[in-house]
Amino acid sequence: MGLLDQIQFKKATTEPPQSIEVNDKQEFLIAWPGVLAVVPSLRLRDSCPCAGCIEEGTGKKILDTASIPADIRPLEVRAVGSYAVQIQWSDGHGSGIYSWETLRRLSGVDEQPAG
Ligand SMILES: [Zn+2]
Repeated sequence: MGLLDQIQFKKATTEPPQSIEVNDKQEFLIAWPGVLAVVPSLRLRDSCPCAGCIEEGTGKKILDTASIPADIRPLEVRAVGSYAVQIQWSDGHGSGIYSWETLRRLSGVDEQPAG
């Protein structure tokens, strides 16, 4: 029994989406394996995981939802490695990196019963 026996890594279970598109209603169409999720821009912007929107450590939300323009839309969606996307928003904010896990949660596709 060495010290390293205690280390456990969280298994990455979230598969990457097959594609991400933005439609003319500024909704994200995220194609997960077997399910297409439609996610409004406002929901993604409101759930920005960056340190300016979420307090590090506590996970408390700092961002005021009311401060987000109703017509919020993405200007650029850029892949970050093979694990996330970074979204530049029309309100000038662009530091949020959305991991597949975060996107999956915001997609709401796991709320259905499995199997
Ligand atoms: Zn943010």
